[in-house]
Amino acid sequence: MTENSHARILIVEDDAGIVLPLKKTLQAASYDVLTAASGKSALSMIQSHCPDCILLDLGLPDMDGGEIIKSVRGWTQTPIIVLSARGTENDKANALDMGADDYLTKPFGSVELLARIRTALRHTRTSAENEELALTDMYRVDGLLVDYKKMRAYINERDAGLTPQEFRIVGLLGRHPGRVLTYKMMLRELWGPASGMDNKILRVHMASIRRKIEENPNEPHYIFTEVGVGYRMAEPQA
Ligand code: CA
Repeated sequence: MTENSHARILIVEDDAGIVLPLKKTLQAASYDVLTAASGKSALSMIQSHCPDCILLDLGLPDMDGGEIIKSVRGWTQTPIIVLSARGTENDKANALDMGADDYLTKPFGSVELLARIRTALRHTRTSAENEELALTDMYRVDGLLVDYKKMRAYINERDAGLTPQEFRIVGLLGRHPGRVLTYKMMLRELWGPASGMDNKILRVHMASIRRKIEENPNEPHYIFTEVGVGYRMAEPQA
């Protein structure tokens, strides 16, 4: 059984000019494809057809995308990938904070689309987000090794010399490889909801982390910036 076989993807999008090529791409990759052009029909299809992954346009004619995410999260953890326009970083961050798993900014290429879907589907298939991590309490991608027991990160087998705060940031991202963590999620997780910390502290730490783990901090290989939204840890290529 190949990874894609029979996985069912629901496209929720009212723009036929986007739905048609998207559908073709997904069918060519052996996915079963369902489509809905409104929020109302999306909700009823999600309940009746139980898709494995939902691609959700935030700009639907009848319902706010956030309402749909909230409603779906009331009964299922089915991965939701939001399709959004450029310049809507706030909407994307809100969608993630409300329970979406990821987002794609239009226009996106088919390679990127299929990679994101594979990541989303993988997360539903393993209880931990990363099997090696679950077994060894380590996260590894290329030359980066995050050792949760020792609370150290190694780059090409050498201790990267992260401070405890820096390790917590890298460690948090390493527990969710391939996923965007919003600033809000990270601040809440690292310093608590009432800490009053803002994004600036993350940016300052990240600059220092990158000097320690990235060959070229301006073109990161391990931790990517999602502009205006948050950060994403690289995951091993399948
Ligand atoms: Ca739309």
